[in-house]
Amino acid sequence: MDWLIIGGGIHGVHLAARLLGEAGVAPERLGIVDPGDRLLARWRTSTATTGMSHLRSPSVHHLDLQPGSLERFAGKRKTRKPGLFAAPYARPALALFNAHCDRVVKTFGLADLHIQDRAMTCTVDCDGVGVEFASGREITARNLVLAIGASEQPEWPNWAPRDDRRVQHIFEPGFDGWPSSSQTVAVIGGGISAGHVALRLLDEGHQVHLVSRHTLRQHQFDSDPGWLGPKFMSGFSRERDLDRRRALIADARHKGSVPPDVRGALRRAFKCNQLRWHEGEVEGFDARRNGLELRLSTEAVLEVESVLLATGFSSGRPGGAMVDALIATASLPCASCGYPVIDSALRWHPRIHVSGPLAELELGPTSRNIAGARRAGDRLVDFVLTNGTTAAG
Ligand SMILES: Cc1cc2nc3c(=O)[nH]c(=O)nc-3n(C[C@H](O)[C@H](O)[C@H](O)COP(=O)(O)OP(=O)(O)OC[C@H]3O[C@@H](n4cnc5c(N)ncnc54)[C@H](O)[C@@H]3O)c2cc1C
Repeated sequence: MDWLIIGGGIHGVHLAARLLGEAGVAPERLGIVDPGDRLLARWRTSTATTGMSHLRSPSVHHLDLQPGSLERFAGKRKTRKPGLFAAPYARPALALFNAHCDRVVKTFGLADLHIQDRAMTCTVDCDGVGVEFASGREITARNLVLAIGASEQPEWPNWAPRDDRRVQHIFEPGFDGWPSSSQTVAVIGGGISAGHVALRLLDEGHQVHLVSRHTLRQHQFDSDPGWLGPKFMSGFSRERDLDRRRALIADARHKGSVPPDVRGALRRAFKCNQLRWHEGEVEGFDARRNGLELRLSTEAVLEVESVLLATGFSSGRPGGAMVDALIATASLPCASCGYPVIDSALRWHPRIHVSGPLAELELGPTSRNIAGARRAGDRLVDFVLTNGTTAAG
């Protein structure tokens, strides 16, 4: 195999489409390994859980090759069903975006290239990268792409027990703890996912407390659009000090922020007392047989039946033990933040490319997003067109 992509999420699927559609890689020379029962399974479950109706990003951020593909897929403006795009910036409806993803998967025959498994170890030698799967199967690929995202490392606050079914993280793989009947629920988090979850719970008739460390921070996008082009990226690329790049990324990402439409909906719900807002930290937690008690830094005490954590993902380097071992055996360079030191072709090693969070120190604050997958695609395609489809070989 010439190209093995680990991770069949937004990034892995887009990169596969680009390698096949623009770089001339033959389908029989490419594989995508992902444990999901279908490609993009994690994306679908996490977005569905939040109840979000539209994406936060604009319509040009999608998984196909041409920027206008999603707009065209939606049909002619005059005859389109209402609600397919939300203003401002023509943000696509989740259902439309997902249907378009299905079309990309179909166009490039990606379902046939999906290896439903988990990569456990990767070993570099002179023939390529040997990857051992959880099933025991092994594949050697001339080139490996790590597109593993952060979705397998949800951030759990220290006080939250992991062994009480009444306390759940909405992004935990296999999450099945959505409150079924009318309950009193505490949602923990102050970003767009917490906002969406609180609104979905209200809509379904639950009593909802939203507990956030900070006031509602409003930003249309999770970083300024200037980071998508030279306006901010040229300074970022000139910066050679990786600690300073990390600081620029931290500064640029509007973590825990909500766009104006979500802020507006939450404020309306607070005003008519449908939603209780608490700005503070959870300082104490007690699990009782008949309920959960949360003690807040505001001195409020909440009695709830369940807690949904919408606290995002850990900022640590993704990939767990597999990536730790690869770093050790292949002597891969890391910055002091633990993230890969890579070249402009996103190579961590002559045979290993990265995308998503792992490419952040090269692609900047949008690296984790759909736009980041597209930027990674540009770099990978340029690299293959210069070096040939078997690239590192
Ligand atoms: C609710 C939500 C809404 C979002 N909305 C937007 C938006 O509107 N616009 C935007 O630009 N971004 C958005 N994002 C951010 C980002 O685009 C998504 O998180 C996106 O899913 C990231 O894609 P990914 O491929 O990097 O990671 P993932 O979706 O996490 O996919 C990585 C895949 O790799 C698999 N994997 C991990 N380790 C292994 C292994 N060892 N072997 C095999 N497979 C492995 C995982 O199981 C997973 O399936 C959103 C994120 C969330 C959570």
